[in-house]
Amino acid sequence: MVLQKALLAASRRPGLRRAVTGNPATRRVVDRFVAGETLDEALSVVRALHADGVAVTLDHLGEDITTRAEAERSRDAYLALLDGLTALGLGADAEVSVKLSAFGQALPDGHDLALELVRPVVEAATAIGTTVTLDMEDHRTVDSTLAALAELRKEHPGTGAVLQAMLVRTEDDAKALAVTGSRVRLVKGAYDEPPTVAHEKKKDVDAAYARCLEILMAGPGYPMVGSHDPAMIALAHELAAQHSRAADSWEVQMLYGIRPDEQRRLAHAGTRVRAYVPYGVDWYAYFMRRLAERPANVGFFLRSLVTKS
Ligand SMILES: Cc1cc2nc3c(=O)[nH]c(=O)nc-3n(C[C@H](O)[C@H](O)[C@H](O)COP(=O)(O)OP(=O)(O)OC[C@H]3O[C@@H](n4cnc5c(N)ncnc54)[C@H](O)[C@@H]3O)c2cc1C
Repeated sequence: MVLQKALLAASRRPGLRRAVTGNPATRRVVDRFVAGETLDEALSVVRALHADGVAVTLDHLGEDITTRAEAERSRDAYLALLDGLTALGLGADAEVSVKLSAFGQALPDGHDLALELVRPVVEAATAIGTTVTLDMEDHRTVDSTLAALAELRKEHPGTGAVLQAMLVRTEDDAKALAVTGSRVRLVKGAYDEPPTVAHEKKKDVDAAYARCLEILMAGPGYPMVGSHDPAMIALAHELAAQHSRAADSWEVQMLYGIRPDEQRRLAHAGTRVRAYVPYGVDWYAYFMRRLAERPANVGFFLRSLVTKS
């Protein structure tokens, strides 16, 4: 827990980034979780995953930007990404995930700015037969992100949301979003949240995840089970059977580089599987959250830090 908090705090301090990039061995650890720094590298990962039966949601990395110009650059990067996806012709098998903080959500009048800049991205996605999912960041952003979702869904009902089981409010949010046409990715939550708003113990987060999953799987929407946890994936299959869900009415989502064999195994066995594929130069905060999630990843990373090549 102490290590996890330290890594999450370090994710907000980019100073360490140089140490990580400067060493070829640590760079390889980053490459395990990040599909490259360029669009071309990301698109070749998309092609390889698709050949294996795994769909994708692409994340152009970048968050917590501080100027309008940076927010506009995020919009432009996503428009270029959707242009690149057009050529692949994968339709809904290649969607995109956005963090509204990369579109200026935290700036003054940031809610309106983020909505203004993300709208053309959602329109471009609809034009090529795919969707956008709004990632969820720390608890202070939830109201603004869900309000943006409601606005975007008026014209683009397939726009997806993410709910974090660790937040106490999420059961109510899951009930509100378990409606026809709604796409909801349920995750445990990757941010260091205060006990006033979040379940603190892992067993409480897991129990909340199970309750929210039950709500979403029982409803008429399209649940996206964002977890690597075998217990949650087994529960999702049980609930799908219990609620007589067709195989194409829900999906499992995992992060690129985590349990790739399991992603392929599930896909070959008939479960819809989508990998979350991040790419871009701003990989530092994303990478540090992945280390914080799993002590084994930290060991792997620290060993590579002391390896010369
Ligand atoms: C597609 C996707 C999108 C996400 N989007 C968001 C978001 O928008 N906002 C947000 O806050 N968080 C997001 N997350 C992160 C999420 O909140 C969790 O931090 C992360 O998924 C870890 O939780 P877990 O459910 O995998 O289970 P954990 O409790 O971390 O792990 C449970 C079990 O899963 C297995 N497992 C986990 N990791 C590994 C591994 N590396 N190798 C092998 N087995 C493993 C192990 O059996 C482990 O005991 C996303 C996650 C996914 C998969």
